[in-house]
Amino acid sequence: MEKSKGLRVILFPLPLQGCINPMIQLAKILHSRGFSITVIHTRFNAPKASSHPHFTFIEIPDGLSETEERTIHTKLLITKLNRNCESPFRDCLTKLLEPLDSETGDEKQRISCLIDDSGWMFTQPLAQSLKLPRLFLSVFTVSFYRSQFVLPKLQREGYLQLQDSEQDDLVEEFPPLRKKDILRILDVETEILDPFLDKVLKMTKASSGLIFMSCEELDQDSLSQAREEFEIPIFAIGPSHSHFPASSSSLSTPDETCIPWLDKQEDKSVVYVSFGSLVTIRESELMEVVWGLRNSDQPFLLVVRAGSVRGTEWVETIPEEVIERINEKGKIVKWAPQQDVLKHGAIGGFMTHNGWSSTVESVCEAVPMICLPFRWDQMLNARFVSDVWMVGINLEGRVERKEIEVAIRRLMLETEGEDIRERIQLLKEKVGRSFEQNGSANQSLQNLIDHISSF
Ligand code: UDP
Repeated sequence: MEKSKGLRVILFPLPLQGCINPMIQLAKILHSRGFSITVIHTRFNAPKASSHPHFTFIEIPDGLSETEERTIHTKLLITKLNRNCESPFRDCLTKLLEPLDSETGDEKQRISCLIDDSGWMFTQPLAQSLKLPRLFLSVFTVSFYRSQFVLPKLQREGYLQLQDSEQDDLVEEFPPLRKKDILRILDVETEILDPFLDKVLKMTKASSGLIFMSCEELDQDSLSQAREEFEIPIFAIGPSHSHFPASSSSLSTPDETCIPWLDKQEDKSVVYVSFGSLVTIRESELMEVVWGLRNSDQPFLLVVRAGSVRGTEWVETIPEEVIERINEKGKIVKWAPQQDVLKHGAIGGFMTHNGWSSTVESVCEAVPMICLPFRWDQMLNARFVSDVWMVGINLEGRVERKEIEVAIRRLMLETEGEDIRERIQLLKEKVGRSFEQNGSANQSLQNLIDHISSF
């Protein structure tokens, strides 16, 4: 019998699409290894319980008003959720930890640990007070997680006053970043950031472990440094998208007409464009993207989420004659079945904001990227794509039609694109090998199972 049999794990995702997907993937992985799964979730952005009949879902109130639910300010939303959810989460967890079922009087299944998102700020002290081991899942790369603590220090040490000639110098302590990248990634004053990061660092070190959906092959240097810095077990269990697809945890209904439309396109001819679940852009930026795509003359599938273009409902402000030009070559949808799209033979490139999930989904399907990062970890992920793995073209800060058109031609039509395609195929295979018997992700997952079975 597996050691995990008879053990239950409690998961608590942050209610954002990019956080729910990896947490549900982790739930599927642990369930496949014999653990029972309970997911505690907020009412806002509740995962679809019916898609996961083997898991127990428990909803807690989140106190968000309708206006708060619609906000585009993610940091504010996370702050509110942290404030509102602490008490209901404590009550829920305390009840779950009672050894006997209140109705039947029977002994309950033993709870091994809590695994929650690194964005929940109250769970570590709470779990400690209840004597429950707590691990957390970071939806970022190991490199970005570390950079949160390293970059403010570097900024204080003088990177703020950069000479023009120094802007492009690499940061010795944190390659592949250039000195000017530090200022772009840190969009908050260090005085505000410092007390917050001190708290995050303390909670990180006090936890029973840190889980990443990354692997040695993608994050090697940072992994060994993080192990030294945080002094806790770290599990890089790999981007498991190919084995455990995220589609079942989609909060929006994907437009399935994408697939028959792709069926009609030539092999590796289509550019897929999506900026994830949170990025919002200006109407002028949408027009630059649309014209860049259309002028490249390649077919394209463009995702524009409802409400993602500021001040508009959807694409109603695009003039009718432009829509006609778009329809000659392209298709616009509100939400795509992204993993199925990336898997489709017609896709030749992915123009992405480089959220971590989108980045690894692209790597796992060997689809070369055009990077248009907007903030935080997206900038760092894009630098890895273009400068470390060399599997994409980085357009950071250049949402301009000519730049987009030229990048698409380079990627889809020129030998540069062929080289990039070869490199991403090799990277896909390398990452795929990490799941084999002695591969790094497989080993790390086994270590995680042993770790949480030992509590
Ligand atoms: N996604 C999707 N359909 C879309 C756009 C995105 O299914 O039209 C999924 C995508 O596959 C990924 C997630 O939404 O799993 C986005 O996560 P990511 O980390 O890339 O970005 P975030 O939304 O957190 O910025």
